Amino acid sequence: ATPTAVMVATGKGASQGVLIKGGDALEKAHKVNTIIFDKTGTLTVGKPVVVNSKAFSNVPLQYLCEMVAAAEANSEHPLAKAVVDHARKLRQQYGLSPDRGAEAAAAADDFEVHPGAGVSGRVNGKLVLVGNRRLMLKFQVPIGGEVEDYMLESERRAQTTILVAIDGTLAGAFTVADPPKPEADLVISYLKSINISSIMVTGDNLATATAIAEQVGITTVFAETSPLGKAEKIKELQAKGLVIAMVGDGVNDSPALVAADVGMAIGAGTDVAIEAADVVLMKSNLEDVATAIDLSRKTLARIR
Ligand code: ADP
Ligand code: MG
Repeated sequence: ATPTAVMVATGKGASQGVLIKGGDALEKAHKVNTIIFDKTGTLTVGKPVVVNSKAFSNVPLQYLCEMVAAAEANSEHPLAKAVVDHARKLRQQYGLSPDRGAEAAAAADDFEVHPGAGVSGRVNGKLVLVGNRRLMLKFQVPIGGEVEDYMLESERRAQTTILVAIDGTLAGAFTVADPPKPEADLVISYLKSINISSIMVTGDNLATATAIAEQVGITTVFAETSPLGKAEKIKELQAKGLVIAMVGDGVNDSPALVAADVGMAIGAGTDVAIEAADVVLMKSNLEDVATAIDLSRKTLARIR
């Protein structure tokens, strides 16, 4: 594209909150034939809410909540916010000050993030793990049949289960719901109409991911994928000749945003995601993915 055409297009994009980082990004975007969407916060609203919780050992639920709130206090993951909020609400229901959870939270030591799996930390000397099956596997915490049944049931409802282990024993679970964005299915079918296929990639489990994918009209799902795994997947597809745009919001998505032909950070995501992206979608509306593609296609069609 000519410098003028690029200027016009990027200016037009910017006025709609679609920031295209230069002519190179614009040019690559018009060749895209496959778009990979991250699930949490990209296809879904990204404000997960705890809808169910259960203690599996003799641990009182209130105690479980406090341990979890402490372990998650320093996590930026949307799932962490959901459980911390839940713990706070529960304290209120018990007639306790909602803020003591925050005090306990400050006590979590050796906090560690396990990307695509969860977090760990020490609370009052006890090792607390909060995350998915993979995290439990990593720390060799056995998951019993009762817990598996509980998880399968929520996965069928497109919900995610967060497991909690205390000192190596599975102590409880929180079920979190995060519905798809209202515009998601329309955007996916629009993209299909202009011959762009959509794929979902997520660190979440396959059953939950598939249930959400069905709701938005996506049939190809890569689940239980680590942040680096997402980038690997993209390289595999590129090797088959596909031109890939990756849409994601989180710190975790950066390797994938970089690997893609066009990386799109959505919802003015984290600084890291914005840095890694070729296109920044300021609003978290998925329609802007189509706006970016349309803009590049029109600009490059005109100058040919
Ligand atoms: P996505 O690819 O859907 O954005 P992530 O890669 O961020 O998901 O996380 C994948 C999975 O890892 C989550 O579905 C959850 O099971 C687990 N997980 C990650 N971070 C946390 C956390 N802070 N607390 C609990 N679970 C977590
Ligand atoms: Mg995400």
